[in-house]
Amino acid sequence: MKEDCIFCKIVKGDIPAFKVYEDEQVLAFLDITQGTRGHTLLVPKKHVENTYGLTEEDAAALFKRVPKIARGIKEAFDPIGLNIINNNDEPLQSVFHVHIHLIPRYPSDGMVLTTLDRQDEYGKEDYEAVRKAIKEQLD
Ligand SMILES: [Zn+2]
Repeated sequence: MKEDCIFCKIVKGDIPAFKVYEDEQVLAFLDITQGTRGHTLLVPKKHVENTYGLTEEDAAALFKRVPKIARGIKEAFDPIGLNIINNNDEPLQSVFHVHIHLIPRYPSDGMVLTTLDRQDEYGKEDYEAVRKAIKEQLD
């Protein structure tokens, strides 16, 4: 629990939220923006700032609930697809209590969430340099 954290206040019940799922470790509630109908946030009850700070046990507890919430949204609204997003650090992250966005998608929903295909700009050596840079941090 962090005193000035809005998600900790929601977990504690000090701020109301439209809760869709809760157990001893996580809470899922509607994102107040409702960027699309059913846009839901999944948070751990324990305050952790972002993904970098999660222990493997924290991550397991949080991410293992994703399929359940995803299925619930799919059954409720029959979207054409579902984006699952986790933003880390400014300017991407706006609330510094780790959270996973589950965003159902609908035809012409106006959301712009996509990946770009830049493989034309990459040669084998570029892939290798990127691979090596990441792998060195993991070894
Ligand atoms: Zn918090």
